[in-house]
Amino acid sequence: MTEWYQAVLKKAKEEAAKNPTVIKVDSDRYLTSGEISLAKLIYKNSIDYEKVRIINGGLLGIPNRSNNAMAPYGNIHFPTKHYEKIKDFSKSTSSNKIWFIHEIAHVWQYRLGLSVALRGIDIGLRGGYYKAKAYGYDLICDDQYLEFNQFNFEQQAEIISHYFDAFYLPEKGHNDLDLHNKNLKQKFALQKVLSVFIKNPLDKNLISKNHGKLYYGKEPIQY
Ligand SMILES: [Zn+2]
Repeated sequence: MTEWYQAVLKKAKEEAAKNPTVIKVDSDRYLTSGEISLAKLIYKNSIDYEKVRIINGGLLGIPNRSNNAMAPYGNIHFPTKHYEKIKDFSKSTSSNKIWFIHEIAHVWQYRLGLSVALRGIDIGLRGGYYKAKAYGYDLICDDQYLEFNQFNFEQQAEIISHYFDAFYLPEKGHNDLDLHNKNLKQKFALQKVLSVFIKNPLDKNLISKNHGKLYYGKEPIQY
C-alpha cells in the first residue's frame, strides 16, 4: 500500500469521526439528454438515468488528489478540473466519451447489486490501482475463455467502454487512434465476451465474481 493511500485512509477515518456527513459535495448536475442517449446505446434501460448525478469532487477529496473519477454509490465523482471543463460528455472528445461509458459501467454494476465501493477497496489493497494494473485484460490470448463475470469490476468497465469505442465511435475525429485501432482489432472478441450483457444487461449473472485478483505476473500483451 502506498504512503499516499494510507494517508487518505487515515484522513478519511479522522473526518468520519468528527463529521458524520462524510460525503462532502461541492456541486453536481444530472446527465444531459445527449449523455443519456450515449449511455443507452450500451446500457439500454438497465439504469435509472434521471437519478444519476455527475458530482464535482467530494469523497473526502480523493478524486481531486488522485485525478481519477470514482463511482462508488451510483453517482459519478469527477475531479474538479474535469467537472468544470466537461459540461456534456456527449459533445466531448472520443477519449472522454470512453471515460464516461467506463464510469457509467460502475453505476450499472451498482444498480445490479455490486458493492462498488468495497470492490474498489479490495483492488486498492491488492495494489491494483498502482500503474493501473487492475485494468488490463487480454481477450485474444490469456483471457479468451473467461466469462464476463470472471473479470474484476475495473476490467468489466474497460471491456464495455472498449466495445463502445469499437462499435460506436467513428475513426474520423477520434483523438486516440492507438486505442481505437486496438479496439477495432479485438472488436469481435469484445462482442463475444459481452454477448450475455448485450442480450440482457440486467442479468444478475453478469455481476463480477472477481474481487480484484491481478492476472498478470507479466505485463498484458500489447497489440
Ligand atoms: Zn473504474
